[in-house]
Amino acid sequence: MNYSKGASELDKCAHRIHDYATGEVEGWREVAVVCPHCGKNLETSYCEDRVYLVRCQCCKTISIVAGDSPKDAASKIGIVAIPAEDWHEDYGDCLWWHFPIEEPPYLGSPISFDRYGNETVPKWCTHFTPIYIPTEENEL
Ligand SMILES: [Zn+2]
Repeated sequence: MNYSKGASELDKCAHRIHDYATGEVEGWREVAVVCPHCGKNLETSYCEDRVYLVRCQCCKTISIVAGDSPKDAASKIGIVAIPAEDWHEDYGDCLWWHFPIEEPPYLGSPISFDRYGNETVPKWCTHFTPIYIPTEENEL
C-alpha cells in the first residue's frame, strides 16, 4: 500500500473502496445500463440509505451514487435509452433507436425536417439517447 504514507483520510477511503469493490466480492447486480467507455453492462451494489456503488469491471471504475433503484443509480453513470415519449426540446438532436436494436440509430429530433420536408426521426423509433458534446483533448 504505497498510498498510505502522506495520504489524506479521503485518499485512504477511496483506495479502500476501489481495492475492495473491484475485487471478487459478492453482492453485485448487473443492470441494463451500459458503461459509456466500453459498452458493457454496469453493476450495482446497495450501500443502504439510497447510496449505491456502481462499477464497470471491464474499465475498473467505481462510482458512489445516490438513487431510487439500482437502475436509477447506474443511469447517472452509464448510458440508458429513454422512451421516445419523454423527449422534449431541451434534449435537442439525439440518437433514435427502435428496440430490439437491429439497425444503426437515426440522428435528429421529432421537430426537425430534412431539406425535402421529411421528418428526420421515423415514428417507429421507440427510444432515444442524448448526444453529449465532448471537450477537446487539449482543454483537459
Ligand atoms: Zn467500462
